[in-house]
Amino acid sequence: MSKTVLIDEEIQYRIKCASTAFRRLRHCTFNEKGLTISTTTSIVAMIIRAQLRWASHICRMQDSRLPKQLFFSQLSAGQRKRYKDTPKANMKKCGINTDAWEELDSDRTTWKAICNQGIRDYEQNHLHNETEKHHKWKEHLGAPPPDSNYTCDICGCICRSRIGLLSHLRTHFLQ
Ligand SMILES: [Zn+2]
Repeated sequence: MSKTVLIDEEIQYRIKCASTAFRRLRHCTFNEKGLTISTTTSIVAMIIRAQLRWASHICRMQDSRLPKQLFFSQLSAGQRKRYKDTPKANMKKCGINTDAWEELDSDRTTWKAICNQGIRDYEQNHLHNETEKHHKWKEHLGAPPPDSNYTCDICGCICRSRIGLLSHLRTHFLQ
């Protein structure tokens, strides 16, 4: 590949396509099929594990290899994110020290153990937090509405907020 070839636009386009596809996937796989919090947490943990393993594989490559260059490079315009930012963000989530990881990477056994422990902790914490959030949300749904200023004139339904009433009203006009 010549150095003057610009593939920024192509990459931006692909990022856009991938994010649309992921949104669709999340909707039909996670939201519609009624997956439980623990299943989705395990899936996320599995993805992080695969991603960190892959990042460590890339780090051990020679600097001249294209995947490694891509991993540490940055687009010249548009999104300033680099590939390595995503594994780094996931390492933070798992409580793994992001400063030391590039050196630690050469010691595969230690790195693997740190990753596994981090991901286990993440899985536990995430499951705990999400379950709590879910319970709070359920409680919120069951609680009586704070006031009835937001009553629908058409069907008498009581909404929790002005925004809620507005979006509820839209359902009448869409029919
Ligand atoms: Zn109504």
